[in-house]
Amino acid sequence: MSDRTTMNVRPPVIFEASRERRPGWGRGNVPEHTAMIPDRFLRKNPPLLPEVSELQVVRHFTRLSQHNFSIDTQFYPLGSCTMKYNPKVCHTLSMLPEFLERHPLAPESMGQGVMQCLFELGEYLKEITGTAGVSLTPMAGAQGEFAGVAMIRAYHLDRGDHERVEMLIPDAAHGTNPATAAMCGLKVREIPTNAAGDVDIEALKKVLGPQTAGLMLTNPSTLGVFERRIREIAALVHQAGGLLYYDGANLNAITGRVRPGDMGFDAIHVNVHKTFATPHGGGGPGAGPVGVSARLVPYLPVPMVVKTDDGSGYRWLDRAEAPRSIGRLSAFAGNVGILLRAYVYIRLLGRDGMRRVADFSTLNANYLKARLQRFGFQIAYPERRATHEFIVTLKRESEQWGVSALDFAKRLLDYGFYAPTIYFPMLVPECLLIEPTETETKEELDRFAEALASIRREAEADPGFVKGAPHHVPVPGGGLGRLDDTRAARKPDLIWRRTLDHE
Ligand SMILES: *Cc1c(COP(=O)(O)O)cnc(C)c1O
Repeated sequence: MSDRTTMNVRPPVIFEASRERRPGWGRGNVPEHTAMIPDRFLRKNPPLLPEVSELQVVRHFTRLSQHNFSIDTQFYPLGSCTMKYNPKVCHTLSMLPEFLERHPLAPESMGQGVMQCLFELGEYLKEITGTAGVSLTPMAGAQGEFAGVAMIRAYHLDRGDHERVEMLIPDAAHGTNPATAAMCGLKVREIPTNAAGDVDIEALKKVLGPQTAGLMLTNPSTLGVFERRIREIAALVHQAGGLLYYDGANLNAITGRVRPGDMGFDAIHVNVHKTFATPHGGGGPGAGPVGVSARLVPYLPVPMVVKTDDGSGYRWLDRAEAPRSIGRLSAFAGNVGILLRAYVYIRLLGRDGMRRVADFSTLNANYLKARLQRFGFQIAYPERRATHEFIVTLKRESEQWGVSALDFAKRLLDYGFYAPTIYFPMLVPECLLIEPTETETKEELDRFAEALASIRREAEADPGFVKGAPHHVPVPGGGLGRLDDTRAARKPDLIWRRTLDHE
């Protein structure tokens, strides 16, 4: 790119393409409204907006969008996040004008359709999770956790059980688990994991007691293995007077096969944006409905849709009917657009489809794991069957050649693959947490395995080359190469400035 000829023919940034008074769209009607704005609020200089044609705008933004990685363009094996394909029909139906343009304060009589969808979604989630009641209002998995632990706390306090101030959390847990417990005013107590990737039950027994509020667990865990002694663990926690919280981020591995409620969990959140197919890159909107066992139903957050007394329609549960509810967590009814996508997805797949999600996400993970093992990669828990995800550790590669998990991840971008999750869970050194999901073909999994194997050969032959990756991915500023991660996150330089080159 330092070559001058190349510089001059590269597509222009939208500001470079700007020409004075080139007809754009819509600027003409701005001045009419300025009369209504007090002088002191009016800007002194016109904004620096590019003056370009419609086609130039379309090309500019389409080109920018193609610099991104996305499910629609690349394999996206980001472990724990379940980046599966999101069927377009889910978006189309949830964006019908009748849904999209509905005013959130419209009366119940005018919202019977959307209320029916929300009510039925709650019923499906009860069935899938094996819980007695569901509230759809939390706006993310993390907020679902907050709701669940707040309900557990309210339950203990209601019973006059004021001593229960400790939440037990395995060391493999996602960071939101201890953060949630702390936000709810509880003390976090870490439980170690044994060499096979299961909860260390002897260590758990030692810390259970009258101070135990509960245990938070993901099953399958973030180590990609199913906790085989979950019933025993649930019985131990219940005997000690605590309740069990289920982090539902890994539900994709078990939908239609096993239900958290049947394992003994009392509260669970569902990341509908993961398991139930709504796009969730870059921290975009999600939803984290919570399901609970019978004893926690009175504490569910509002609002909730219920059937009218005569069963002919739907209404919002009155706050007075839920005196022990932990209250409100979101404006209006939560992220309804996301909930509708989940509703359509579940209707689309049906009972058998839900089961196939679990079967094929697990099959794909185990296939990819076996392929990578054959290429010489070290699996973190090789003797365990993978669930919907598994962990590769690059400790050997890092020690022998100085090439880290981060370097492998950056180089994968050059091969046209989004990178797996790296350095999580923190228990496994130099780890890649790989989640292929059920929507990938065998051929795509083969291509990915071959790319990783090829990077491994590069790492052995020329470690410096891999450490300098990515080499072909455009970065802000128009160059190539690796960005300083910290600076890119904390001090991103995204402002275009006129330089001599552009004049
Ligand atoms: C994604 C995730 C969460 C948090 O969910 P959000 O919807 O991102 O708030 C919690 N635990 C695990 C294991 C996760 O993967």
